[in-house]
Amino acid sequence: MASILFFVVLTIAVAVLFKFYHARSWTRPVAVNYHFTRRCNKTCGFCFHTATTSHIEPLDHAKKGLLLLKQAGMRKINFAGGEPFLYSKFLGDMIDFCKEDLRLESVSIVTNGSLVKESFLKKHGFNIDILAVSCDSFDEATNIEIGRGSGNQVPQLYKIGSWCRQYGIKFKINTVVCRLNYQEDMNQQIDALRPFRWKCFQVLIVAGENDSNGTLRDGRKFLITDQEYRNFCERHGQQKSLIAESNRLMAKSYLILDEYLRFLDRDGRQPSDSILQIGVQKALESVYWDERAFRDRGGIYDWSRRVESCSEVKKGLDW
Ligand code: SF4
Repeated sequence: MASILFFVVLTIAVAVLFKFYHARSWTRPVAVNYHFTRRCNKTCGFCFHTATTSHIEPLDHAKKGLLLLKQAGMRKINFAGGEPFLYSKFLGDMIDFCKEDLRLESVSIVTNGSLVKESFLKKHGFNIDILAVSCDSFDEATNIEIGRGSGNQVPQLYKIGSWCRQYGIKFKINTVVCRLNYQEDMNQQIDALRPFRWKCFQVLIVAGENDSNGTLRDGRKFLITDQEYRNFCERHGQQKSLIAESNRLMAKSYLILDEYLRFLDRDGRQPSDSILQIGVQKALESVYWDERAFRDRGGIYDWSRRVESCSEVKKGLDW
């Protein structure tokens, strides 16, 4: 009898410990993508974070949210949109806050590149670890057809690449592989640009964003098969910087904070309430995101810039 009781107590204890451990590991927001605006100056046909609102939080709210995230375990922040450089003053203030006050390991930005200026990188570059620029094609006609280009995206990408080297920022390229570019050979240009990471995403459909002719964008006509996506990746297999991200890995593995400081649910349910109202833990518990897929896709990597003195960077030395 005593041994049965002991066994039952032991089983319950193990179950409680397992649940506690699991809950902890699922609710630490190690890397957060803060899409602080949905506004954008481009009109990509497959965009899955569309301009359904023009809301942007006041700076002090955004900073409070970032502080709460840091206290909850955030180590990396990625500022995304929409187009973050539409609000360059706001963006610059947040970047400086994240590095100088919160001391985050990594601060990155995803941009379409069109509004990036050297003066911004000169002023804030020493607080930026990674700058990711979207480029779907080295043929401007294709970029225009996608809705991201206006005829000068490629030279702008080269300019940003050289500014990143000049200011010690890790330069990354993001490419959405879709019906219009899946046959392109980009090896020569990637060799020349030398990004530290080249992420190639398979075009993705997100319910309510780009899944019908009733949404702001209809990405369905850009879809490719898994095999077409694999062919694109194989064609570029020689690129050491290539990170392939299929729909399976991408769909639910990003922890996304929206323009109202709410976590988006990656399973199609309602977003959480604002983290300012209910706190980070409660907000995380009310949504689903796939942390295993986050780790499977290599979500934690060498994400900090080279360590150097700020004064060196401010002087704009070329390393
Ligand atoms: S650049 Fe294109 S994909 Fe990115 S937010 Fe703007 S419209 Fe969407």
